[in-house]
Amino acid sequence: MVEDNCIFCKIVRKEAPAKIVYEDEKCLAFLDINPLALGHTLVITKKHAKSIFDVSEEDAKHVFEVAKKIALQMKEKLNAEGINFFQASEEAAGQSVPHFHLHIIPRRKNDNIDFNRWWISKVKKVEDEELEEIAKLLRVEETEEERKEEKRSGEEIYWIKREIELA
Ligand code: AMP
Ligand code: ZN
Repeated sequence: MVEDNCIFCKIVRKEAPAKIVYEDEKCLAFLDINPLALGHTLVITKKHAKSIFDVSEEDAKHVFEVAKKIALQMKEKLNAEGINFFQASEEAAGQSVPHFHLHIIPRRKNDNIDFNRWWISKVKKVEDEELEEIAKLLRVEETEEERKEEKRSGEEIYWIKREIELA
């Protein structure tokens, strides 16, 4: 089910950090730490499978269903004008993390990403706060923490209003 030394399995187990964009019982989506474009997201299966040769059909389908939701979110929230999907299976194809994942890359006209030479157009460094902002924008559903936070600020606004009314 999970591999002890696999970095993506560690992210699934929440033993390694990641800016999570989406999660359900079968898969997880988070921002790539070395993005090609801001918002570059990886969708992975929770169950460890190395590549397209090992992943179950059901999981592979589900990864694409989730990718569709995230792509729409990129269009709406990041003003993406296009999307590239990229999937590398096995070393021969340049796979560097041996846990099945689909790249979702938001694109804009004239973004200067040359897909034939994409490894040299990688964004060098993105600050943690900026990644957190982007992850928040892309989240299809709010996390439990954010729901609580919103409820809290809603309650605060109510009490501020009440105080104004009573003053
Ligand atoms: P691939 O070359 O298709 O196997 O892609 C692996 C991707 O995983 C690369 O784009 C890396 O930047 C990304 N990556 C590796 N480690 C992490 C991590 N801990 N968190 C987020 N992305 C990662
Ligand atoms: Zn794994």
